[in-house]
Amino acid sequence: MIASEHRPTEIEVNLTAISDNVAIVQESLPPKTAVFAVVKANAYGHGAIPVARELMDQVDGFCVSNLDEALELRQNGIESPILILGVIPAQYATLALSLNLSLTVASLDWLRELAGQGEDLKGLAIHLKLDTGMGRLGLVSDQDVEEALAQIGQLGLQLEGVYTHFARADEVDSGYYDQQVARFRHLLSLFPVLPAKVHASNSAASIWHLDSVFSMVRLGNVIYGLNPSGGALDLPDGIEPALSLTSQIVHVKEVETGTSLGYGGTYQSPTREWIATLPIGYADGLTRKLQGFSVLVEGQACPIVGRVSMDQIMIRLPHRYPLGTRVTLIGQDGGQERTAQDWASYLGTIHYEIVCLLSNRIARRYVHHSPDYLSEAGSIPLDEQDN
Ligand SMILES: *Cc1c(COP(=O)(O)O)cnc(C)c1O
Repeated sequence: MIASEHRPTEIEVNLTAISDNVAIVQESLPPKTAVFAVVKANAYGHGAIPVARELMDQVDGFCVSNLDEALELRQNGIESPILILGVIPAQYATLALSLNLSLTVASLDWLRELAGQGEDLKGLAIHLKLDTGMGRLGLVSDQDVEEALAQIGQLGLQLEGVYTHFARADEVDSGYYDQQVARFRHLLSLFPVLPAKVHASNSAASIWHLDSVFSMVRLGNVIYGLNPSGGALDLPDGIEPALSLTSQIVHVKEVETGTSLGYGGTYQSPTREWIATLPIGYADGLTRKLQGFSVLVEGQACPIVGRVSMDQIMIRLPHRYPLGTRVTLIGQDGGQERTAQDWASYLGTIHYEIVCLLSNRIARRYVHHSPDYLSEAGSIPLDEQDN
């Protein structure tokens, strides 16, 4: 889907915030820990290429979920190490080798398929994935790990890393996390020599479980300023959300009492009121269940009234506002804030899903603002603002 550049609905991504967020986490990690930034799913909706370009000199590499995401980075001049976290079809291993991509090996079956192709894959960089309790990908038993190591040797693959993934590193109770760490340490003990990159920590573990950081970490949502625990645990000071989403009033009217608004007539104005229409809808990732959630107009909460349609929503205003008035759906406005976490709490989901679902139809704009930009902007006296 093409970005709607001529529509006054846009995502602004503050690349300075992303770089600062990485630096804040980096500072607390043990020295020499390799940091890979996770830019899968278009950098959690923030834009993989601009984010990767911003971080290229600051991190040791990038993680993506599939081959196409890796190709996108390579085609855009990103030469950093790239690890593909998902399982790619074995038939594309030569392509991965030619582009210097590191692959995840998650099963003996996959290694057998690779061997069955009879290609020369010497030097193909791989990370062996161990399932220590996530239950999604990876080798589970001691025996399988030993057999995989033998096959990797036979095929001449370059064992660059070994890793696991935590299912519950973002919880207050660390019981399950501790079990996974213990299992990982046990499986590592089967390696005659450990590869250079041993990694387990996602964002949550990199922030809240510094005791079990290995030689590398994979930082995802925290670099975008999101809290992996959703608020159950505190983020380090200074971590700031990088993404804001704004739209504008494109239509405004005063409706009579009892006016039916939107598909299905789910809202009838209880009194005379001012209603504005905004050019954003569920095709942009603003899901229908957000009806009733409030957005910000000059710091005032304005509820979404009537059904969310594909391309538009309506909001109730406290009074008339002119066409072109800015509306904040995610971000700060007039001392108030709406966050991806607020959407997630309203919808009963997690912020990861909110930012990933912001579709490519929304134009993305990239800026570099220092950390105090917003608070400074917020303190500009009203009569000096150019609305
Ligand atoms: C997505 C992902 C990460 C990053 O997770 P965050 O919680 O966003 O830090 C790390 N490792 C793997 C295997 C992943 O799939």
